[in-house]
Amino acid sequence: MEPIGEPTGHPAVFDGPPAFDDLRRAVDGALFAPGQPGYTELSTPWNLAVRTSPAAVLEAATAQDVVEAVRFASANGLPVAVQATGHGIASDLDGALLIHTRNLAECTIDPRGWARTGAGVTWKTVLSACAGTGLAGLCGSAPGVSVAGYTSGGGIGPMARTFGAASDQVRAFDVVTGDGRLRHVTAETEPDLFWGLRGGKSSLGIITATEFNLLPLPTIYAGALFFGEDSAARATFAWSSWCHTLPPEASTSLALMQLPPTPGVPEALAGTFTAAVRYVYTGSPDDGARWLAPMRAAGVPLMDAVQTMPYSMIGMVHSDPEDALPASEASCLLADFGPEAAQTLLRAVGPGTNSPQLLVEIRQFGGALSEEPAVPSALCHRDAGFGLYSVGVAAPPELPAIAVHAAGLHASMGEWHFGANLPNFSASSGAAGFAASYTPEVLARLTRLAAHYDPDALFRLGQVPAR
Ligand SMILES: Cc1cc2nc3c(=O)[nH]c(=O)nc-3n(C[C@H](O)[C@H](O)[C@H](O)COP(=O)(O)OP(=O)(O)OC[C@H]3O[C@@H](n4cnc5c(N)ncnc54)[C@H](O)[C@@H]3O)c2cc1C
Repeated sequence: MEPIGEPTGHPAVFDGPPAFDDLRRAVDGALFAPGQPGYTELSTPWNLAVRTSPAAVLEAATAQDVVEAVRFASANGLPVAVQATGHGIASDLDGALLIHTRNLAECTIDPRGWARTGAGVTWKTVLSACAGTGLAGLCGSAPGVSVAGYTSGGGIGPMARTFGAASDQVRAFDVVTGDGRLRHVTAETEPDLFWGLRGGKSSLGIITATEFNLLPLPTIYAGALFFGEDSAARATFAWSSWCHTLPPEASTSLALMQLPPTPGVPEALAGTFTAAVRYVYTGSPDDGARWLAPMRAAGVPLMDAVQTMPYSMIGMVHSDPEDALPASEASCLLADFGPEAAQTLLRAVGPGTNSPQLLVEIRQFGGALSEEPAVPSALCHRDAGFGLYSVGVAAPPELPAIAVHAAGLHASMGEWHFGANLPNFSASSGAAGFAASYTPEVLARLTRLAAHYDPDALFRLGQVPAR
């Protein structure tokens, strides 16, 4: 690629339509046009089955770059999208200016119990930075997602029953709103915006930094019990009753899995059907073991990996895949999950059903998550009992069949549907699916705020609809 125009202080050179020249000159970061190697790398999401086609990708180097990009998009009538890791792509980004945040990499840990992270920082980085401090940030099951993307969707992780949503721990955001202003937003300075940014994802602006509380939690009693094909059904029934007995110190999920024999998958689990009981206990290990005892007695696990571990290893509880994959995902919330629901689930995806899903997870909510936070937010459906999530991984031509199967599975659980979803799990389901993440009142308030903070509807792709 031959350089054109003025050097911009980085090796990449924009080779796209001249209309973008003004933006290229205004920013410190690299701007990539379709066809350039940086374009493909930065616009490829975690789910390789999703193809995106933004008009250009800006690899923002500073918060001011984000300001310039939003102002440029407004002047040129372009929608704006944001990507940090690509784990939660919301649409095909057709014609958008995509702002990639991976170079907004500030990660400051204050030993007094809070952190400030740039928009490109993942929980993995925060976990490493906090290791040895005894402090814990409320990450999700997969630490590879960004703090900003996760937290702006509420962030419901493996300790949600003890500590609630990650968005409840936010102290401040730096955010560029659709009017091109960089604002420092707290509950005191801009209460409406602070409310909407915690749950509304990028409907109101692009976060450039997040400040959030860290909790004193050096270790957890956590991990997973893996039951083989013979005892998976028994374990599923046992879990469906046992989880209702747990105190808020315990968070758990059940995953029915068909793991492939690929590197990284333990030999005992590869190529066979397993039921994994994921468990995090935030009190004493002795109490944690006592609460877990009935599950341990539900069968002889192939592997028992529940132990006291440093909080920095929390990613091992779910061991979610880190590498990009072609996947078909589906999710919904359930009001309840008991033995009858377990039976229905097993009929659809249990041992012997030849289900094409790689993993079907039931995650228990409740506990602290169901309580309204001290500072209210746009995160809705805190009173849902459980989440149902399924994912199948296959070559793209086979994914539609997996999606049809998932639709059947989700429909079969209709009796227990809560009638809604969560923003972090519904972004890829289109505008209507995303809207189901909110109550009508919250959606209306978010839409009103979007009209104010994003008057040109720059952030309309896959976000708050009906504007
Ligand atoms: C394997 C896996 C496990 C997961 N586990 C959990 C879990 O336990 N709990 C949970 O709540 N979620 C979970 N998620 C969902 C995840 O939190 C969302 O997909 C989240 O949006 C990922 O954020 P990202 O920035 O890494 O992804 P990206 O694809 O880069 O961004 C996704 C979306 O996040 C928003 N966003 C990203 N950056 C910004 C920003 N700077 N400003 C404003 N908005 C922004 C935008 O709406 C963007 O479209 C999981 C996802 C995967 C793939």
